[in-house]
Amino acid sequence: MKDTYKHQGMRQQLVGVLKDKGIKDERVLNAIGTIPRHLFMDSGFLDHAYQDKAFPIAADQTISQPYTVAFQTELLNVEPGDKVLEIGTGSGYQAAVLCTLGAKVYSIERQKELFKKTSKFLPKLGYRAKKLIFGDGYKGLPEEAPYKSVIVTAGAPFVPKPLLQQLAIGGRLVIPVGDDVQVMTLFIRKGEKEFEKHEFGEFRFVPLLEDKN
Ligand code: SAH
Repeated sequence: MKDTYKHQGMRQQLVGVLKDKGIKDERVLNAIGTIPRHLFMDSGFLDHAYQDKAFPIAADQTISQPYTVAFQTELLNVEPGDKVLEIGTGSGYQAAVLCTLGAKVYSIERQKELFKKTSKFLPKLGYRAKKLIFGDGYKGLPEEAPYKSVIVTAGAPFVPKPLLQQLAIGGRLVIPVGDDVQVMTLFIRKGEKEFEKHEFGEFRFVPLLEDKN
């Protein structure tokens, strides 16, 4: 588990690429500049870790493209101390970005293998999520609600109601919505029953699945 000068240099180049693609939030760029993404990937893909691409992880899943991670995180507007719920822990990379921004992170993963692997791995690197949960993200995590923000990192065929309900007033849900291609969508909770909706560009994610294994 080494992080060398070479890796650090490659990370700074990646940060430059993300800036060129329009990412502006310095705190998000700094987080990506400090997190050793190569350690979140299987050793066969180490050389690809700092390209702006998604890559396979265990259980047929992917670690999201750095641009996608940056774009979603920028939309969340995370402040230190915010309670953030993530759906789709996967490799734990997005969770590490949220921890680096000072969020209190709750993250749900439905694949047992990934859940176990990432639960061990994240604390080893010093990223301490409040809770990593094995379960179904469609239901959210009502016992810890409300959340300042909720981020879904898999393609959702529709917007799960519980995720909107578990937002604090003023809270933000960032969710890619669609089947083959997803539209990045931001919901801001303005009141008990009032939500503002903003749509951004198209992205491609692995699907948010409904039934457990
Ligand atoms: N945030 C991850 C991206 C992982 S890809 C990272 O940074 O690496 C999306 C993840 O969502 C996969 O691990 C997949 O198993 C998980 N997923 C799919 N459907 C889910 C559901 N209903 N509940 C929780 N996780 C789900």
